[in-house]
Amino acid sequence: MPASAPHSFTTLFNHLFSWWQGVVCACAALVLTVPAAAQSGTTIRVRLADGFDFPVGKPDADGFYKARGYWPNGHLGEDWNGSGGGDTDLRAPIYAMGRGVVIFSQNIGVGWGNCILVRHIFREADGKVAMVDSLYAHLHERKANLHDLVEKGQLVGTMGGNNGMYPVHLHFEVRKNLHIGMNRSSFARDSSNYYSPTAFINARRVLPSSMQKYAVPVNNFAPYGRALADTSSDGARASSLDVPSFKGGSGTGNDDPKQDDDFWSRLKAKMRAGQTTDATEDKR
Ligand SMILES: [Zn+2]
Repeated sequence: MPASAPHSFTTLFNHLFSWWQGVVCACAALVLTVPAAAQSGTTIRVRLADGFDFPVGKPDADGFYKARGYWPNGHLGEDWNGSGGGDTDLRAPIYAMGRGVVIFSQNIGVGWGNCILVRHIFREADGKVAMVDSLYAHLHERKANLHDLVEKGQLVGTMGGNNGMYPVHLHFEVRKNLHIGMNRSSFARDSSNYYSPTAFINARRVLPSSMQKYAVPVNNFAPYGRALADTSSDGARASSLDVPSFKGGSGTGNDDPKQDDDFWSRLKAKMRAGQTTDATEDKR
């Protein structure tokens, strides 16, 4: 039949055209999805840390003291103060505890203020390569940007009190769990996720390093406040993330670190009321 030839041609053409469209669409989809995929799996190549030191009073925390220590289910980091007393340590330099890459640099307000997170890769004594995050909080100023490579003792910020919320001090954490970011309440508040910073540093003052670089993930935790559904529990221990309720005053339901730093809030209030001085309170 004469009409069948054009019809077949049209069918063939349509078939080829839709096939080609499919290829074009597939390519476009690939182009569109590649950046997103690359983003979630972003790594930055970093050399192994060659050892760690305290983030204040370079070297060895000279001229500074630990006003509050680390304890599980209580204070998840250490508070460092200048020996000069009062707020004489305002703007004191804060240093990266070791070589690493900046994975967070933001002022998130609330009880945190200016925060820097640095991710470190290093070789443990048993030969295994491990990673930790160090957190520097309540900073007066941040002196490092996201994805900066930093060395041990490099300036990352200056000491502050979160705009007058606390007497000036550094809140300093060392995390084993690289998914915490600024959403602490989603994770167990204990040694499964945190190190005692002083114990961690003292056990790793000098470490073997080399020129070799390792791929370090830099985008593997939720943005601050994004895990709101997690705030009903300690998260890592309880998986009931579908209960978006807040437990006021339960001690576990808030990402804001104020409960950690209640000590400083109370101290600040007492100091305002003239009931005590920094020095007497610190002897508790
Ligand atoms: Zn603290």
